[in-house]
Amino acid sequence: MDVQTLQVLQFLTHYGLHFLAPGLIAYVFFRKKWKKAWLLMALTILVDLDHLLADPIFDPSRCSIGFHPLHTWPAMLVYAVMLCFPKTRIVGLGLLFHMLTDYQDCIWNAYIRSLVL
Ligand SMILES: [Zn+2]
Repeated sequence: MDVQTLQVLQFLTHYGLHFLAPGLIAYVFFRKKWKKAWLLMALTILVDLDHLLADPIFDPSRCSIGFHPLHTWPAMLVYAVMLCFPKTRIVGLGLLFHMLTDYQDCIWNAYIRSLVL
């Protein structure tokens, strides 16, 4: 498979996991209020506002995990604690899933870079 096709698949996987997968998670785990849960989890994309602190703001080859302040292990610990409270559970789950999504994107980047270099 050529690099361009891989990059299209990477893009579709990344944004599918950011916006569509939370719908599935919401439907499975929060059936009674799945639309609201989906919206809340999709809104966790706002955590990417921490990219505004970086220079350049957007760099497709950079791994967000461990780089941006809201994508670090201490932040993830806070998201994990949010799972313990019913009022913050959905957002905490959305944030942790966001981190997983960004992490799998880092693996794509490393793999594609290994093919190019
Ligand atoms: Zn992110």
